[in-house]
Amino acid sequence: MVGVYASGSHSATMTSIGLFALQHRGQESAGVAASDHGRIRVHTGMGLVSEAFRDGDIDRVTGEMAIGHTRYSTTGASRSANAQPLIVDGLNGPLAVAHNGNIINSRQLREQIQSQWDCDFQTSTDSEVVAHLLANAPGKTWPEKVFYAMPRMQGAFSLALLTPDAVIAVRDPLGIRPLCLGRLENGWAVASETCALDHMQAEFTRELEPGEVVVIDREGVHSAIYGDAGRRGRALCVFEWIYFARPDSVMDGRLMHTVREEMGAQLAREHPVDADLVIGIPDSSTSAAVGFARESGVPFANGLVRNRYVGRTFIEPEQQRRDRGVRQKFNPMPAVISGKRLVVVDDSIVRGTTTPHVVDLLRRAGAAEVHLRVCAPPIKHPCYLGVDMATRQELIAANMSIPEIRDLTGADSLGYLSVRGLMNLVHGQQGGFCDACFTGNYPVPVQLELTKQSLERATA
Ligand code: SF4
Repeated sequence: MVGVYASGSHSATMTSIGLFALQHRGQESAGVAASDHGRIRVHTGMGLVSEAFRDGDIDRVTGEMAIGHTRYSTTGASRSANAQPLIVDGLNGPLAVAHNGNIINSRQLREQIQSQWDCDFQTSTDSEVVAHLLANAPGKTWPEKVFYAMPRMQGAFSLALLTPDAVIAVRDPLGIRPLCLGRLENGWAVASETCALDHMQAEFTRELEPGEVVVIDREGVHSAIYGDAGRRGRALCVFEWIYFARPDSVMDGRLMHTVREEMGAQLAREHPVDADLVIGIPDSSTSAAVGFARESGVPFANGLVRNRYVGRTFIEPEQQRRDRGVRQKFNPMPAVISGKRLVVVDDSIVRGTTTPHVVDLLRRAGAAEVHLRVCAPPIKHPCYLGVDMATRQELIAANMSIPEIRDLTGADSLGYLSVRGLMNLVHGQQGGFCDACFTGNYPVPVQLELTKQSLERATA
């Protein structure tokens, strides 16, 4: 998710640069909306940014204010009508919305909004619920409107909004999803991660506070914080640190690459093993593997090559597509690993789709032993806050013991990072993380029967 206000510029182009940097956060669809003299234009398309935008598409989205989005669905199917940014009409004219997160009470909110304002819903997303709520919320200013909506939306929401005369960034009161602000030569940018600011050549200014609304308009940047949001604590998704965010992004002043190295080192302390080589499952586990190698004294090697033109399997929407992706994704190098006792570091095991296949590949390439080390605790609980881990039935650690998972994967041994080890590492300057997928301690009340398709029937 990106927002740009750059005076005198074609901001959609800058926004698309940011979206390319955030491609890892969503690969199902992409879009950019821009505001030009009171009119908002949008272009969205299915697939990667490079697929959604063909020749000339971006040029037609004119204006010095723009927002953009790459979609990873958590509520609502992966289809073109659900692509973002979404545009709705409201009391103050058109409003474009890009949303990262998941609204848990979207079904109830949607019913309330329909009866209160008679809104016409076009999609099956929670994001459209957010859009109509904000567009119709009472209040003279945008912070007032957002503050009206904030307590009504339960769950995770980092938002980039576009009005005819402003770009607005919003972070939910628990700061579950990241959002940061940067300075451009001729304006300002907001983005889900600092790596996008880097690519846009924006100077990182700061992360938004939990509950903060930042309005960027002709006069500059204005900020307001909802109630006592900051003082009530934060619940940033720890999975961002383990897997989701790019290693070159910075959160809480810490580089994700370095944090993951530290996680790998902690994993080595918790689960040492006699081995000849440490390899990481590329790319997301490489930093942790380097940390494991450094701490254990076992050399690190690149034993597995990832085909970079196959997307992240975890964020593909359907199981069949995920399976296919895994088979196309990795190729081991026998010359490096044959006859070796391997430590294989993975960032997480969610459904267990990838791991048995990788272990099998390594054995067929001649690995003498395969010791799996997972740089996250066992994921036993679904996420309702913006990571599509799906149902409890699909989570392997919710249904099997660690020895059973070891046997299923075909590994010689299996060790997970402990919750305590993980939380000791990430409680840095600010503290306050959600770790519910490991512990079941959700930072907000959740309805355990909630599914990704919960608004599909309402739309049909
Ligand atoms: S449940 Fe897990 S993935 Fe979801 S927000 Fe919390 S830490 Fe992140």
